[in-house]
Amino acid sequence: MTKPVIMIVDDEISNIEMMAAVLEDDYEICFSRSGTEAMQIAHAASPDLILLDIVMPEMDGYELCRQLKLDPILRDVPVIFTTGLDEPEDEVRGFQAGAIDYVTKPIQPIKLRSRVGNHVELKRMRDQLSALATTDALTGLGNRRLLEELLQSQLLRLSRDGEWLSFIMMDIDFFKQFNDIYGHLEGDNCLRLVALTLRGAMRRNDDACLRYGGEEFACILPRTDHDGALEVAEDIRRQIEDLGIPHSGSGVSPVVTISIGVATGRSAPDLSMELWISTADAMLYQGKRTGRNQVTGHVIELPKATVEIEQTREAG
Ligand code: GH3
Ligand code: MG
Ligand code: MG
Repeated sequence: MTKPVIMIVDDEISNIEMMAAVLEDDYEICFSRSGTEAMQIAHAASPDLILLDIVMPEMDGYELCRQLKLDPILRDVPVIFTTGLDEPEDEVRGFQAGAIDYVTKPIQPIKLRSRVGNHVELKRMRDQLSALATTDALTGLGNRRLLEELLQSQLLRLSRDGEWLSFIMMDIDFFKQFNDIYGHLEGDNCLRLVALTLRGAMRRNDDACLRYGGEEFACILPRTDHDGALEVAEDIRRQIEDLGIPHSGSGVSPVVTISIGVATGRSAPDLSMELWISTADAMLYQGKRTGRNQVTGHVIELPKATVEIEQTREAG
């Protein structure tokens, strides 16, 4: 197992050396001597915990801690202040800035080791819990909670430049009959195989496939226009068909098939994720009504107000 990474931020090199000596048997150590460069180093090193000095030139520890807590990637990394300031109000300021604990200098090695050990362990448990809460146990894919988190954050990110986002909804055809004929355990195996196939069909790093619920799956494809998304969807449809899982109860095919709805739209600050979900859902059910085992798509129209603003911008 790899060692947890501890980042030490302190302007005094002797402090860094002392703490590193106490912790280096159990942890990977990285450090920064200035608050201003610490953010960059933290992004590169992904620490599991940060030991942060308060009094530093340029940016002090309180300010750095506040910035860490505003950063979407680093905000869950526990911060312990290590400082010579030992007035109760200093401690209060530290907690207000978002620190999880406080160790005063001169540092006592045993105290430092046990505080760090406890917080690293708690962080590991929090991470496990949050992974469990967002993972579907049967397929190992992200669940609906994660889907909503991801979709919302991608739309927010892409809305800065009004970029395309495509959302795909899928539903296995005649799956109730599949369970009735082959049994629930075979049904579960089928869901696992479909999930595995979806995973393999994702083309880019930030494409995501998730289990929406029951026998319904979804994909989020950031920066993907409608033609691109239709291509991915058709690829998925064909790959599921090519698995060749026998389905004698299907009304459309001798094997398991899937119906797919695709919604594509340019993200904008005033458009909610429900628009993508409901559009893809409507397309999926249109596909169900008109024959199943097919891809049906729609490009989301911008609401009138947004279109007018866009046109004014172009004109000006
Ligand atoms: P359609 O083609 O219109 O989608 O028909 P359908 O039979 O697939 O649709 P329906 O929504 O009626 O049935 C969904 C079925 O999916 C019902 C349920 O038993 C089954 N299902 C949902 N979750 C699971 C699961 O975790 N495991 C298994 N084995 N079956 C599941
Ligand atoms: Mg269904
Ligand atoms: Mg179904």
